[in-house]
Amino acid sequence: ATRRVVVVGGGVGGATAAKYLRKLDPGLSVTLIEAKPNYTSCFMSNEVLSGDRTLDSLTFGYDGLRNHGVEVVIDRVSGIDPVSKTVQTDGGKEFSYDACVVSPGIGFKWEAIEGYDENVAEEIPHAWYAGPQTLTLRRQLEAMPEGGKVLIAAPQNPFKCPPGPYERASQIAMYCKHHKPRAKIIILDPKDAFSKQGLYVEGWTKLYGYGSDNSMIEWVSGAEGGAVEAVDPGTRTLQTFVEDFQGDVVNIIPPQKAGAIAFAADLVEGDWCPVDKRTFESSRHKDIYVLGDASSASKMPKSAYAANSQAKVAAAAIVARFSGQEPDDPTFVNTCYSIVGEDFGISVAAVYSLDAANNSIEPIPNSGGVSPANASPELRKREVSYAHSWFSNVINDMME
Ligand code: FAD
Repeated sequence: ATRRVVVVGGGVGGATAAKYLRKLDPGLSVTLIEAKPNYTSCFMSNEVLSGDRTLDSLTFGYDGLRNHGVEVVIDRVSGIDPVSKTVQTDGGKEFSYDACVVSPGIGFKWEAIEGYDENVAEEIPHAWYAGPQTLTLRRQLEAMPEGGKVLIAAPQNPFKCPPGPYERASQIAMYCKHHKPRAKIIILDPKDAFSKQGLYVEGWTKLYGYGSDNSMIEWVSGAEGGAVEAVDPGTRTLQTFVEDFQGDVVNIIPPQKAGAIAFAADLVEGDWCPVDKRTFESSRHKDIYVLGDASSASKMPKSAYAANSQAKVAAAAIVARFSGQEPDDPTFVNTCYSIVGEDFGISVAAVYSLDAANNSIEPIPNSGGVSPANASPELRKREVSYAHSWFSNVINDMME
């Protein structure tokens, strides 16, 4: 009989898995269920804030997957029953599976910052899912008076895209440098260190006067009292245990957990979904594979490249098991580019292998690292074009 795979969520992990399942075994029936008719990528969405890119340029339909023979259903999954091996949707449909892939992305811990909730987020956007809130934040930046103040509340680890809040500050500074040169961007952070910090500081120093009295960007670490505890939406004031910060434009990126369907389907322990890192099969329910941001995939970061890499490992494992074989030990790859300013790109890369005894994914020594400090302008410029070409490649690999 034809084997059936149901994929929940058509983001990076889900779309890649659906496509590669069909490529590995064209005899499989693969159904992808996604809540939205189009995918809008978060990666590169900080460029919408600087005005370098439109949201439309980040939005893609699912015809590419349909051309690979994937059945695409636009509906929201409401439940997954691991006993009857069925998936239910809000639209009242039910799908049976031999294997189910779940890649729903993140949800927010709304209770973490007093005064912040889904309604307030319409005015004080998180913009941590690219979409209408990205455009709201862009409009607020355009409307901000010269000399205005932008506040960014960064989340505690682990969260989607560790370098993302700092790239966001950089892209906003890139816009302000030309249009509001006396603006200030203050990052309030519960953490004392962040991804690619050395390279960010180098770029901010060169481009935005970081460290000087006139710096456009300020970073307030956890030790300095950067953890935001509450917001007063009326006055756009963020409270920390040390002081209050009032902003003209405020962006709160709340702490995160696995997407809601992962909780509804009993796939979560703590905030994230534990998996066997050899296959990405859930540690809680057999024949369900959890990928991407929702999974607990330490030491891989929550990134698009990571989700794409994990999806191929899971697809290969599912196909191997359908033919009665156990999959080989996998390797994984991740690269994250960040665009700090005009002609100034930085990156971090790693190749990983499985430490099966500890169910851990470990970077292979000397396989990657961050791009060099004090690199030539030529290399920094090249990293921007690498970032853009990575974007086209990953979209192509997951959707086309
Ligand atoms: P997602 O891509 O978020 O996809 C989840 C999908 O599941 C969504 O389409 C959602 O609608 C759907 N879904 C959820 N629940 C249901 C349900 N119940 N029923 C049906 N569908 C459902 N990564 C990089 O590698 N490089 C970068 O440069 C980079 N930049 C970033 C910049 C920003 C500002 C942000 C916010 C993120 C960035 N990322 C980057 C991270 C990247 O976007 C995520 O890590 C990646 O999208 C994770 O893929 P995923 O499949 O886990 O989830």
